[in-house]
Amino acid sequence: MTGRTKIVATIGPASDTPELLDELLRAGVDVVRLNLSHGPIEQHLVRMQAVRDAAERTGLVVAVLGDLPGPKIRSGKFPDEGAYWAEGDVVQLQVGNGPSTTTLVNVDYATLLDDVKPGERCVIGDGAISLMVTVVADHKVNCVVVSGGRVAGRPGVHLPSEHSQLATPTEQDLVLAVQMAAAGVDFLALSFVRQGADLVRLRKAVGPDGPLLVAKIETAAAIEALDGIIEEADAVMVARGDLGIDCPLEDVPHLQKKIIRTCVERGVPVITATQMLESMITSPAPTRAEVSDIANAVFDGTDAIMLSAETAIGHDPALVVRTMTRIAERAEADAAYRQWANRLGRLQREQDTAPVDRITYAITHAAYQAATDIGVSAILCCTRSGRTALAMASFRPAATMIGLSPSARTVRAMTLSWGVVPLLANVYTSTDEMVWFAVESALAAGQISHGDTVLVLAGAPDMGTGASTDVLRVVDVA
Ligand code: PEP
Repeated sequence: MTGRTKIVATIGPASDTPELLDELLRAGVDVVRLNLSHGPIEQHLVRMQAVRDAAERTGLVVAVLGDLPGPKIRSGKFPDEGAYWAEGDVVQLQVGNGPSTTTLVNVDYATLLDDVKPGERCVIGDGAISLMVTVVADHKVNCVVVSGGRVAGRPGVHLPSEHSQLATPTEQDLVLAVQMAAAGVDFLALSFVRQGADLVRLRKAVGPDGPLLVAKIETAAAIEALDGIIEEADAVMVARGDLGIDCPLEDVPHLQKKIIRTCVERGVPVITATQMLESMITSPAPTRAEVSDIANAVFDGTDAIMLSAETAIGHDPALVVRTMTRIAERAEADAAYRQWANRLGRLQREQDTAPVDRITYAITHAAYQAATDIGVSAILCCTRSGRTALAMASFRPAATMIGLSPSARTVRAMTLSWGVVPLLANVYTSTDEMVWFAVESALAAGQISHGDTVLVLAGAPDMGTGASTDVLRVVDVA
């Protein structure tokens, strides 16, 4: 069986050729991420088509995730040679787009003076440089440099998110989302989500049958509203870069565990992201800390792990993916999945769940028990929306899981779920037919063999009952 933790890889200038894309998919990439913060939409649409072509050439299932920029505050341009701040230097911030210097930084955020208070922290760039607000005066914010360094270009300015008046999705996000949805993107990730309602606004723009929505958890506000956000999201990303700016850095590993645990409990796929193999942007081997970080994300129970600049601008994107796959597979061999599944069954019984979900939970729990007791080689989930496969995956069973759906969109959506091998199926009119063809498809795909015992989970073909999974069958594959 191949690795069960899914891999999301960002593509960019370093991974633009058809040969390299094929190599990335063969190395284990399940979802390709397009970072919409960089480059024009036309370039992303070309890249999305290139991914579809690579999937066709390799015969592999791969989904595309468009990552929306969200509200980003930027400073005015620093001099070409950059500017250097030492600890204790005094700096003023003001609203504007003009050039910035070491003593005066222009910030393109109209309500700057209302949204910062003395004693709060402002971060410039990716987190290394931070300022503390001392006085908010008439037209300027006085700050003192707490940790210094060099700034260049137009770095981002990070203000405490709890006062921020910037809405997410922004108008620009909504325009991009509609364009990406029209082109058939599978997932859209929303940056700087603060509440479930942010996802509702995005869903309204792309429609209920549009792309699946990934909530990026990267603010303290999102941690507060985590349950409501997960309720509205199709998947979640632990966006550790910005999370480590908005929350104390030392909280990040704890928040990662909490977010992953909550998502797995609810059957919502979760991606752990950022700096997983950062050193491999330039180096042929990872640091020991990075190897441990990937293994620990697997032990935490993450569905997927993500690569950003490593594959977008790194020197050897395919080597990075192969390295990540190797580390994740090794960690999976030691992960305490069985303990988790036993706990999950108990948790689900205690939850106040809608009747239709209660049936899915009960059947998938029964399937987990049966699969373990019988020692089946595979669990075949026939699923229209993907919900059955997601619920089954949340038990993290040892047997191969195959998600079969007549919907190409659902097949690609399952690429993010731990351990699920997605396969396209036909539409069938009876449960017997569905079970038979599920076994035949899994055989044809080489996922099971003659002589295997497998489980098949299915919902009775739609009779207007709300379509929950209600059939569990044990099949000896003759
Ligand atoms: C992050 O902040 O960790 C992240 C994944 O988001 P972005 O790459 O958009 O900064």
